[in-house]
Amino acid sequence: MINGDAVSERTAPIGRFDICMSPREAANWNSQRKMILQNQLVVPRMGDVTRFFLLLVWVSTAIAQTTIQFATVSQDIVEKRLGAYVSKNDQREPAVRQIFEDAGCAGERLTEQRVKGLKAPNLICTLPGATEVVIVVGAHFDLVEAGDGVIDNWSGASLLPSLYQGIEGVQRRHTFRFVAFSGEEKGQLGSKAYVRELGNTHEQVIAMVNMDTLGLAEAEVWVNHADSKLVQLMELTAAVVKLPVSGMNVDQVGTTDSEPFREKKIPAITIHSLTSATLPILHSPKDRIAAVRKDEYFRTYRLVLAYLAVLDQKLD
Ligand SMILES: [Zn+2]
Repeated sequence: MINGDAVSERTAPIGRFDICMSPREAANWNSQRKMILQNQLVVPRMGDVTRFFLLLVWVSTAIAQTTIQFATVSQDIVEKRLGAYVSKNDQREPAVRQIFEDAGCAGERLTEQRVKGLKAPNLICTLPGATEVVIVVGAHFDLVEAGDGVIDNWSGASLLPSLYQGIEGVQRRHTFRFVAFSGEEKGQLGSKAYVRELGNTHEQVIAMVNMDTLGLAEAEVWVNHADSKLVQLMELTAAVVKLPVSGMNVDQVGTTDSEPFREKKIPAITIHSLTSATLPILHSPKDRIAAVRKDEYFRTYRLVLAYLAVLDQKLD
């Protein structure tokens, strides 16, 4: 796919990666059309489990020479944060706050946004960049109190601070807002409130990256509810950092925090990990930390982190 020696990846002592795409490699990429397969997650009915492939999306992305930089936190830390879940809704927001503060997002950078009808606010960690154009990275922290809500969605919420840390030390063109949303399970109340408030601030949000339900498998994208350019850039990222990603449409499963953004015509993408085999874990007593596949989860972290660095470079 991509010529091995054209991609240079070096690990600095602090765990920083440089990923370069040479002009030759970029030309290779442009000359190839990579397919992403969209799978449709079909909710089984009457014991009938069906999986089928939908359509193929042709991807060709124009790439100039690009260097992206990011610094990964260790798998130990990512897993420790995953393990810091609490199982009661009223304790979740303080628990996310604690991890943000541990990761260095505190003081003026960490703000709360009240959500009408809910006790728990949205929690927003802002990482300034060279411009005030914003990329939102979101994940809800609330849960259905059947299991521990680790998969859905502590897996996403507890990753936000590690993503913040991963790009905090590099130059950025965009301002990033890492938003831990309240009330997703009550009808995306937190993300709806966030989008509504954008109407007052007139802040320019050029992309929203949503994480919901990670760690059941390698990273997956809800392709037919995602902006096509954001999907292409995800493919590019996965190819460059050599991490797996696939398409899995979950239209029949439910909805999530990217949808209020899409309704406002803000390009959005949702990353998840659902498969028909793991679907029964959602909103059930089986949603416990034992259900997380640790290596897949850490690879998802690295993929999303690299993706944010790519978006920062490639979006205008
Ligand atoms: Zn969820």
